[in-house]
Amino acid sequence: MRIVVLSDIHSNLNALEAVLSAVGAADAVWHLGDTVGYGPQPQAVVDRLRAVGALGVRGNHDDAGGGGCIEFFNPDGYRAMEWTRTQIDEPTRLYLAGLPERRTPEGSGFTLAHGSPSDPIWEYMDSPEVAQANLAAFATPYCLVGHTHVPLVFRESRGRMKAMHVDQGRLGLDGRRMILNPGSVGQPRDGDPRSSYMVIDTNAAEATWHRVEYDIGATQAAIVAAGLPPHLARRLSFGR
Ligand code: ZN
Repeated sequence: MRIVVLSDIHSNLNALEAVLSAVGAADAVWHLGDTVGYGPQPQAVVDRLRAVGALGVRGNHDDAGGGGCIEFFNPDGYRAMEWTRTQIDEPTRLYLAGLPERRTPEGSGFTLAHGSPSDPIWEYMDSPEVAQANLAAFATPYCLVGHTHVPLVFRESRGRMKAMHVDQGRLGLDGRRMILNPGSVGQPRDGDPRSSYMVIDTNAAEATWHRVEYDIGATQAAIVAAGLPPHLARRLSFGR
């Protein structure tokens, strides 16, 4: 089985389309939340994900888009979320609100969460200490998370979780416990502005990370045209 793993699309339809056309045929699409927020096409992004039958979990921006708490956002995120709420129809709001915080596709060996398995909506999986503290919070060999917008793996070695950078690399899924982050489709923050995503090949028992260029200028123009904070457009050029 070939499974495409997407995270933090953030209403960036151009980026999502570039990734979907780069991956070609897949047996499943999984998303790790934050489908909306920051970007200019929330409705179209959710429609596209639903059209490809994506299986997903709820991020902090999905939660807010579905009617949940908006108070924790920074000013740009807050402004974009207020706008997002005016741009989505009721079925989309219900879809966002109804995304589970975690899911474990049957027989897959993977647990999916946006932030972390123990605090799925908000915790940032950004250090070996956080990864270590989360080992007891999932029962499968592997856990997939997003939220930091940085492709990264934490892998268990002699009982300790160690961070591994995975820049467009591959990693064998050899049964050692791992927490894997595909990076962000719609707002990368590792200094590379190209969309980041991951592919799991269950036959080869490996995960691979990929980058693809998309029309950043078109997304930036749409952000400005929507009246969203210009910083949200500028940062896409730098992957920050
Ligand atoms: Zn995000």
